[in-house]
Amino acid sequence: MRPAEPLPGSVQPAASDLAIRIVHDNCPGVAGMKTAWGFSALVTGLEKVILFDTGSDGALLLENLARLEIDPGRIDIVVLSHLHGDHTGGLAGLLQANPRVQVCLPASFPARFKEVVQGYGATLHEIAGPQEICRDVHTTGVLGRRLKEQALAIRTPRGLVVLTGCAHPGITRILQTVRRLHPEDLFLVLGGFHLEWVTTWKIAAILRVFRSHGVRYVAPTHCSSDKARRLFQQDYGPACLDIGVGKTIALADLTT
Ligand SMILES: [Zn+2]
Ligand SMILES: [Zn+2]
Repeated sequence: MRPAEPLPGSVQPAASDLAIRIVHDNCPGVAGMKTAWGFSALVTGLEKVILFDTGSDGALLLENLARLEIDPGRIDIVVLSHLHGDHTGGLAGLLQANPRVQVCLPASFPARFKEVVQGYGATLHEIAGPQEICRDVHTTGVLGRRLKEQALAIRTPRGLVVLTGCAHPGITRILQTVRRLHPEDLFLVLGGFHLEWVTTWKIAAILRVFRSHGVRYVAPTHCSSDKARRLFQQDYGPACLDIGVGKTIALADLTT
């Protein structure tokens, strides 16, 4: 999966055109886009077009992609964060539309799941430890004991962009892991933070961890909970990005 080394003297394209579009989310965003429980985000502006998670419903995912005029045939790599159906349920629909993708999933996924993916003709990459997915994109490797989950860290000229699915291993543990693996600053953390049923006191402690790591922007969605989204909004102000299905977070627009 490691791309060829650039030729000596060639300029490494930095991910300054990075854009993340939320294509499946239970949090509403843009009018006309359909919501359903789950999460999926399309990442462009990199060496490869990446779909991070697939939401719960393939038909809805494809419908939302069509509404955003995104051809599923453009997707090169699908990264699945963890086994829950609200992140993997849309995969079959996506593979029917585009079977020529690479699917990066935790090695702990059931054998039957992997067989089905390969049955569509997709290439399987089983993830255990941290590794490069494509240029500028690294997985944290699979974290968590019971519920295995991977997150992505994307290198940009502004710092690292971290993408989380449900953050079952703990959002703070994911941030600590990214910090351990990469020297760059944390610029943006986006995705599900898994803060439903978490007390206000605990969320305040989590916010302190975000601040201690110097996270510049946050975009909590999916399973982050309304309460946590409100508390992040209060703490981060405009640097807590308005996010939901159909919204685009473009690196170039984050100017502060
Ligand atoms: Zn989950
Ligand atoms: Zn989830």
